[in-house]
Amino acid sequence: PKITIAIDGFSSTGKSTIAKQLADWLDYIYVDTGAMYRAITLFAMRNNFISETSFNQQALIDSLDQVIISFKKNPETTISEVYLNGENVEKQIRTLEVSSFVSPVATVSEVRKKLVTQQQEMGDAKGVVMDGRDIGTVVFPNAELKIFLDASAQTRAERRYKELLGRGDKVVFEDVLKNVVDRDRIDSTRKDSPLIKAKDAIEIDNSEMNLEDQFHIILQLAKD
Ligand code: C5P
Repeated sequence: PKITIAIDGFSSTGKSTIAKQLADWLDYIYVDTGAMYRAITLFAMRNNFISETSFNQQALIDSLDQVIISFKKNPETTISEVYLNGENVEKQIRTLEVSSFVSPVATVSEVRKKLVTQQQEMGDAKGVVMDGRDIGTVVFPNAELKIFLDASAQTRAERRYKELLGRGDKVVFEDVLKNVVDRDRIDSTRKDSPLIKAKDAIEIDNSEMNLEDQFHIILQLAKD
């Protein structure tokens, strides 16, 4: 079986759903790297380093040493949740507001350096499934299995919209679609570690695929 599995792709392609399922099935560690970028974004928002009109990158960079991101399993759901300086922020990081600031924050090289180092330390000889944008290209360029997920922007926005409504968030579909498209653009065009498919990644477009079929395809690849 493959020990290090990288799942990358565009926003809301269902990376975390499939990565979680796979890690559960294989009894591997699961790491949601997007949650780490989101937690730093929440930190930047709370300290007023970023707003609709401004982004004080230097202030964020100067405070990075004070930011501690960690994961802890929720004993009831066994799902791993993200903590910012000891506070569980799993719910707060999933809002559309955090989603609208996270891609600019993720362009900052110092932020990436900090998180990539931590992610590399989370590699595990017993097996890890990590999802993000640069796992197969930067974090684990030697990962034994690299998956690159894609789907049409419309499909992805519909999925994300349903998810947000399900949480009780008041959102407008057009805003969700715009966020998905904006993030894809910023993530793909940033200078440091842009979102691109690793040469040796297997690309799967799941626009027309159900979860079960997708899971079986990827599980087979992981077991081979
Ligand atoms: O995966 P998720 O949608 O939660 O990621 C949120 C954002 O974090 C992405 O749009 C991207 O800007 C950033 N990100 C990144 N590199 C990763 C994971 C996430 O730049 N490995």
